[in-house]
Amino acid sequence: MRRIMILSAVVASVFVLFAIADTAVAWNIQSVPSSTDKKIGKFDPWFKKLKRGATEEIAGHYAKPQHEEIARLILECEGDNCRFPQPGIQKSQLSAMLAGVRWNDTPPFTLLKTRTSLCPTEQVITIINYPECWGILFKDAKKQAETGRKYGNAPLTLVLYRSHFGDMQFLHSMASSEQERAAETKQKIMAWAEFMYKLALGEISRGTSIKKTGIGDIDGLFTYRYDTIQTLFVSDAPREYKDDENLHLFAMGVLIHMVSDSFSDSHVERGEQLGQNCRNVSGKHNPGWVRSFHVYTLQDSAAHSEAESDRALAYQINYFETSVVDVGQTIMEYYSRKAPWEELKGYLDCVYDLADPNAPAGPGSDYQKKDNKTIDTNILPSS
Ligand SMILES: [Zn+2]
Repeated sequence: MRRIMILSAVVASVFVLFAIADTAVAWNIQSVPSSTDKKIGKFDPWFKKLKRGATEEIAGHYAKPQHEEIARLILECEGDNCRFPQPGIQKSQLSAMLAGVRWNDTPPFTLLKTRTSLCPTEQVITIINYPECWGILFKDAKKQAETGRKYGNAPLTLVLYRSHFGDMQFLHSMASSEQERAAETKQKIMAWAEFMYKLALGEISRGTSIKKTGIGDIDGLFTYRYDTIQTLFVSDAPREYKDDENLHLFAMGVLIHMVSDSFSDSHVERGEQLGQNCRNVSGKHNPGWVRSFHVYTLQDSAAHSEAESDRALAYQINYFETSVVDVGQTIMEYYSRKAPWEELKGYLDCVYDLADPNAPAGPGSDYQKKDNKTIDTNILPSS
C-alpha cells in the first residue's frame, strides 16, 4: 500500500540553476541503501547520480559516516559489531537507530506532481533510490532560499527543505535566523527531544496526529491534518523499520543526531568544560555552556566544512572530558531504564545550558562569511 507521506508535496515548481552549495548538516552522514534496495540493485551507482543532480560539495556531505560513527561509539559498537550493546538494546536494532540518525539529513518524501522525469510521483523518494531527483530538489531549494523563499509549516512543505533551509534547523541544533534568541532555539530543541523521547518510550504512537502530541511547540509544527508519526518517519522503503520496537530506536537516532550536532563547533559555540556538574542533575557533568547557536546562511561554507572534518570529530570524541559520545551514552542510559521524560529533560536542560538566554544567533566567530555579502535575514523564518 502506498502512503502519502507528510513530506508529500507539490514541489518541483521551478528547477533553477546551480547554487554553489553547502548544507546545514554538521557531522556528515553516509546514506546506505536498504537491504531491499540492494537486492534490486537500486543503489548502484547512487552516489554518482547524487553528484550529477546536486553538486560535488553537496554530495560530499553524504559520503562520510561521521554521525554513524558517533552512534556506534554510543552503542559501544565497532562497525556492525556491538561488543557491549547498551542494556535493553539488541545488536539487530543498530540499523534502526542508524536509520534514525540519518533521517535528520535525508528525510524521504513523496511528490504529488513533478516537472522532471527524474522525479517520480506518488513514490517514496530517498537519497538512495532517486539520488538524481533528490540532488536536483535539494540544490533548487537552496537556490530558492537564497532568493527569499521561506520554508515553514505550510501544509506539505518538505521536511528536507525545512530542516536545511527553513524553520526546522533545530533538527541540527541550529537557529533558523539571526533574529532567533538562544532561549527560543533551545525551546524548539527541547520540544523535539520530548517528542522523540516519548515516541521512543511508546507514549506517543505511530498513528498519533502530530497536531495532537500535547507538546506545545510540536503541535504547531505541522498543519496538514493527516500528518502522523507514521507519515513522518515510515516510508515504504526501507521496510525493516516498520515494527514498533525499531521505530522506537529510530526516534532515539533522530534525537541523538540533533544532540550530536550541538557538539560541532560550526553549529553551536560552547564554553570551556571546567569539570562543573550539572546544576539540577546530580552526578552528571555540564559539557560546556552554550554561548550561542549558529545560523548556517551567515557562514562561510568552507569554514563550516572544516569543522566537519574527521580530525575535528576525532578531537571532539577524544579530547574532552565529557564528549559527544559520553553525552549520547548518558541519554541512552535514561532510555534503557525507561526513565520518564521529566528525568531526561533535566539532563538535556544541562546539555543545552545557556550562558545567556538572550544571546543572538550568528555565524560564530570562526565562520563569518568572508565575502561581506549581505544576507537577507528574512530568508529563513523562525516558524
Ligand atoms: Zn545535522
